[in-house]
Amino acid sequence: MSNAKKRIAVIGGGITGLAAAYRLEQAEGVEYQLYEKADRLGGKIQTELVDGFVIERGPDSFLARKESMSRLAREVGMESELLANDTGQAYVLKGERLYPIPGGAVMGIPTEIKPFLSTSLFSTAGKLRAARDLFLSPTVKGNEDISLGHFFRRRLGDEVVDHLVEPLLSGIYAGDLNKLSLKATFPHFQQLEQKYGSLVRGIKATRTPQPKAMDKKSKGMFLSFRQGLESFVHAIEQQLDPASVRKNADLSFIRKEGERYLIGLADGTSESFDHIIMTTPPHVTAQLLSAYPYFDYLREMEATTVATVALAFKEEAVHNPYEGTGFVASKKSPYTITACTWTHKKWQHSTPPGYALLRSYVGRPDDSSIVEQSDEEIVETVLHDLKQIMEIEGQPEFFRVTRWRQSMPQYHVGHTFKIAKIKEDVARNLPGLHLCGAAFEGVGLPDCIDQGEAAVARIIQTS
Ligand code: FAD
Repeated sequence: MSNAKKRIAVIGGGITGLAAAYRLEQAEGVEYQLYEKADRLGGKIQTELVDGFVIERGPDSFLARKESMSRLAREVGMESELLANDTGQAYVLKGERLYPIPGGAVMGIPTEIKPFLSTSLFSTAGKLRAARDLFLSPTVKGNEDISLGHFFRRRLGDEVVDHLVEPLLSGIYAGDLNKLSLKATFPHFQQLEQKYGSLVRGIKATRTPQPKAMDKKSKGMFLSFRQGLESFVHAIEQQLDPASVRKNADLSFIRKEGERYLIGLADGTSESFDHIIMTTPPHVTAQLLSAYPYFDYLREMEATTVATVALAFKEEAVHNPYEGTGFVASKKSPYTITACTWTHKKWQHSTPPGYALLRSYVGRPDDSSIVEQSDEEIVETVLHDLKQIMEIEGQPEFFRVTRWRQSMPQYHVGHTFKIAKIKEDVARNLPGLHLCGAAFEGVGLPDCIDQGEAAVARIIQTS
């Protein structure tokens, strides 16, 4: 057996690729190259620090209970920089006003009777319909996959879905509930209805107690970093050997040649590796591997286009009658914004004293035309919507509009089966090729880290 080091290429320097590269940096008996098309690492993680503001242009935080991101933060010396969000009431925008999200709701599923009965977000008929969840037979048969829309509408009824479940889940997946896969997004909901005969009973039995939302001292379920998520990217990058990181690397193809893989670059050069870890967006992965017939699903996978719109104001210019941290908008309401975080309340580190920072989302799976308008037009639309529910004087001190075209991969019904088939084909025909990242097994930042690390673990085990 040869003692030569295994050569590994990581394609894409977003969080998935960074997590993989960091593990490879620590591993013995391997050498790696990280290829990133842009002139910076981090992919969708982008923070702008401006005049004391910490503006997240893409993701703003991660779920604390998914531990891989905090663990990696600890490993790269960033633990003391971690911050939890400040908690407060969150709302749903329905009609012309905001309704508090009823206490105890988990992804919109009620688990406490009193707040659910007393909310005016739903009619009495809507509440009675949701209560039928307690008596219905399981929705999912065997190993079938169904849409989140079908699942939730059957269990909880249209009203609770339209005015709570859908706006909350859209905030995570920017997707169409009638197309999103239950199995790929919330497989445990299916298990809960099987085991407890009811989603409400299942969630109630298994949820960890949440801090009371209005308790000033309680901290939230999300974490970020004092200087923004991109500071974490820099901390990981500092741990990598600069000679192993290649930015501005424009790849044109990846091909298997004998036992190894050849990577072709746009400048006409090529390099050969034993293993390839692909972390690029799905259509890029399909295109780089276009010599093979296994990746049609990745090529065709839908991805939603959205934009984040950060508006900074002097504090006295914003008169918000609602106490809390922000809202999600019901699709049934006549607004363009889909969500807004009162960032200065939820993430106090993000905003200097005396200012307010409002961060909204626009763009839906069925209509993202707003994203193609000019920055000024988008800001005007967002302001118009916000002014329906709060008083805002004048124009923002400054704004940042960030477009994310085809950036939220959609796990439609059948996703897990299709991904399993691709992985099966790859294992059989392209051993040494590892597919991971947001298009595969979870879009959240910790899910991406898990996938990047798992790819490296597989390589090390087989070495
Ligand atoms: P990416 O970050 O997309 O990285 C892929 C990399 O590949 C990029 O750097 C790209 O430049 C590079 N690349 C592309 N083509 C090539 C090529 N030909 N050669 C080499 N490199 C190439 N998740 C959360 O957990 N919390 C949040 O709050 C949150 N909010 C979000 C808000 C928005 C607006 C978006 C878009 C996503 C959000 N997400 C959030 C999801 C999360 O940000 C992503 O799923 C995650 O960052 C994806 O990481 P990745 O490494 O898989 O892909």
